[in-house]
Amino acid sequence: MDYNKLAELLFPQIEKAPEDYEAMYPMRDLPEGAKVTRLGPSPTGFIHLGNLYGAFVDERLAHQSNGIFYLRIEDTDDKRYVDGAVEIIINSLRFFGINFDEGAGLEGDVGSYGDYTQSKRGEIYQCFAKKLVAEGKAYPCFLTEEEIAEIRAGQEAAKVNPGIYGDYAKSRDLSYEEIEENLKAGKAYVLRLKSDGNPDQSEETARRIKVEDAIRGILDMPENFQDVVILKATGIPTYHFAHVVDDHLMRTTHVIRGAEWLPSLPIHVELFEKLGWQPPIYCHTAQLMKLDEEGNKRKLSKRKDPELSLDYYRNQGYHPAAVREYLLTILNSNFEEWRMENPDAPIDDFAFTTEKMSNSGALFDLNKLNDISKDVLLRIPAADLYEFLKNWAEEFKPEIMHIFDDRAYLEKILDLGRNDKKPRKDFIYAQQIIEFISYFFDDLFKVEDEMPAEVPDEDVSAILNAYLAGYDHSDDQSQWFDKIRAIATELGYAAKPKDFKKHPEEYKGHVGHVSTVIRIALMGRAQSPDVWEIQQILGEEKTRARIASYQ
Ligand code: GLU
Repeated sequence: MDYNKLAELLFPQIEKAPEDYEAMYPMRDLPEGAKVTRLGPSPTGFIHLGNLYGAFVDERLAHQSNGIFYLRIEDTDDKRYVDGAVEIIINSLRFFGINFDEGAGLEGDVGSYGDYTQSKRGEIYQCFAKKLVAEGKAYPCFLTEEEIAEIRAGQEAAKVNPGIYGDYAKSRDLSYEEIEENLKAGKAYVLRLKSDGNPDQSEETARRIKVEDAIRGILDMPENFQDVVILKATGIPTYHFAHVVDDHLMRTTHVIRGAEWLPSLPIHVELFEKLGWQPPIYCHTAQLMKLDEEGNKRKLSKRKDPELSLDYYRNQGYHPAAVREYLLTILNSNFEEWRMENPDAPIDDFAFTTEKMSNSGALFDLNKLNDISKDVLLRIPAADLYEFLKNWAEEFKPEIMHIFDDRAYLEKILDLGRNDKKPRKDFIYAQQIIEFISYFFDDLFKVEDEMPAEVPDEDVSAILNAYLAGYDHSDDQSQWFDKIRAIATELGYAAKPKDFKKHPEEYKGHVGHVSTVIRIALMGRAQSPDVWEIQQILGEEKTRARIASYQ
């Protein structure tokens, strides 16, 4: 068969030659060792933690090596395209400090290796498909869905591998004339790779392939033997073909993608081989897992786990620095140790490596994120925290914007107890922080806890009246507490908790119960940071008003 003639018959419209594209997209001029990585999301509008996890690896590898990180939109599955998806991807990742150097952008493509949207690259894919046909490495397959179903049923009955390969690949041996006739008759066809793999893996001629994965080490896998589809009947490429062509022409050095792509790796290896190209270095990341209520590891699910969506972190108001810090702890096993040794170093000083990535499931744990967030927020100055909360509230809680009117007041609130020797770690995410500090604002203040059972109602009034009568805003902390002790003693409460413990029959309760009464009147809660300090921030007027108005 004259394959060149067949290539012309199938792709008469393709005028460019592969060399033209090789020249259009030359090897990148980058420093030695620079890595070129990409994120290839489908534009479904749903951007999830897995995307962020992968993007983080891409970004670190590229930027640590003075390389390039670009965005490619993988929209060959056009059913799933959602308007504005590119914007969502770019903005969500930017929020977490991940920026692209190149690729699909808000105002069109940036960079000279485009188009960066697969649906606009049809001619390029067809050019390389044509090359494969011209070299006898790909062929049109006219099998209908029914015929394929029949083949599959036969394979199941015979207990052999399913698929189109070897003798089952009926269109492999069509003559030029038969193909021409089929085309004239308007028969639909897909383009398939003519695989050289041996379907019988037990035979001596069956090969295995060895691929070095930067995360998993050497992978030893059976070679591909399927005549996989490379162009669908619509002329649109499959993921397999688009990945190989794009990552070659865009000069990607490292492909970071999820472990779900591991089974198709042999196909990609054969495609690279058939096209005469060097494959990139693959880095197959671990699946994100969580522990369910029964303590079993399972994959994060879109339906069951709201924390899979990146929106979740923005709605709740997690600080991007906390999410980054957390992701690094699950991405690199030596990160936590590094952080302990370098508590104040900027996170980008950490030398991220693929070797320290786990290849079994990466365990995602919200509680751990919360713990890390507490530490991260502690390192963020009140002025920056103010800005962060304000930006968050503007988007997610506009009804509380008035709390940002008095900047000095809010910054004092945010710093409360944070500069002590053993600093308080009260803050986790914006939603929770606003709730935590709400008692500082009259319109948000509400009484949440009940008065201690040890204190009868008439004592509550007596305590508050005495407190108000003796209140002097200029008292220092010990003068202030002495007064509370005096009130306690006066009303029959032990001045020290330990006295009460020793002789409970002699007292109604102890000074702790008395100060809880004051705390609840002031803050509406039985637990809070230091009362004296809170009063200093609230100011004399508000302090007196709260005590006076407690019913
Ligand atoms: N479009 C593919 C996905 O979202 C990308 C996989 C890859 O990075 O190669 O699953």
